Amino acid sequence: MIEVKNVIHQYKRDSEHQIMALNDISLTVQEGEFLVIIGHNGSGKSTLAKHFNSLLIPTSGEVLVDGMLTSDWDHVWDIRTRVGMVFQNPDNQLIATTVEEDVAFGPENLGLDPATIRSRVDEALDKVGMGGFQKREPHYLSGGQKQRVAIAGVIAMRPEYMVLDEPTAMLDPKGRREVMNTVRHLNKNEGLTIIHITHYMEEAIGADRVIVMEEGKKMLEGTPQEIFRQVELLKHLRMDVPPMAELAYRLQKKGLNIVGDVLTVDEMVSKLC
Ligand code: ADP
Ligand code: MG
Repeated sequence: MIEVKNVIHQYKRDSEHQIMALNDISLTVQEGEFLVIIGHNGSGKSTLAKHFNSLLIPTSGEVLVDGMLTSDWDHVWDIRTRVGMVFQNPDNQLIATTVEEDVAFGPENLGLDPATIRSRVDEALDKVGMGGFQKREPHYLSGGQKQRVAIAGVIAMRPEYMVLDEPTAMLDPKGRREVMNTVRHLNKNEGLTIIHITHYMEEAIGADRVIVMEEGKKMLEGTPQEIFRQVELLKHLRMDVPPMAELAYRLQKKGLNIVGDVLTVDEMVSKLC
């Protein structure tokens, strides 16, 4: 479990001015959960993400990972092994000349023996659908493939939690689908706890829980159905809703009798036909 308790995070802009990036955030992430965090630019999502594995520590308040304080230096290594991070730009995350060297980087740092590293690398690549790409150069892969190699590098560390900060933002629709399918697979089939940050609302469909951030605060929290029901509030917060929720909202305004929540095309079809 990850517990965020009354966290305030201030960045220093200059000697006199502070930026309040997180303003009294509290939340809990349960094991096995698929949590999605949304919010417009500058709402504090990336700052929050970096608190989950001690890349940042709170100005006040506390973050606990499986009971360990992220501000306690004795635990930082353990916390970073438990909480893997995937960032937006795959090119900044892949550093080696072959895919397998890249994925091996983390396990090597754990001091594992070569045979164990080999099997972890192969296993991790299989789990992200990149088996057979061991000898390939990351440079020549598509964006979606690169991001899946980055994910393999994280899961080769056998983490409990994976935090993804807008991992699909730089990808084309195909790459986005590949990455989302991989992340969902790892959650459902491997039991990995996922904290997925995105500005694509449709990526929140199917999540166990959605948190909406606004100006460093947690504005809304609930199931995707509970969140996307609030079309007008989300628009007020300068956010979109998934296309089918938007369509249902407009049809309802036109007087069509659509009862209940609609998030997917299938749900829309069953309401209309
Ligand atoms: P998001 O990921 O939702 O776009 P961020 O967490 O990156 O939001 O930023 C939240 C606020 O903190 C913004 O006002 C941003 O300008 C500011 N900020 C982010 N990183 C830094 C930094 N390293 N130094 C100073 N201010 C920062
Ligand atoms: Mg961000």
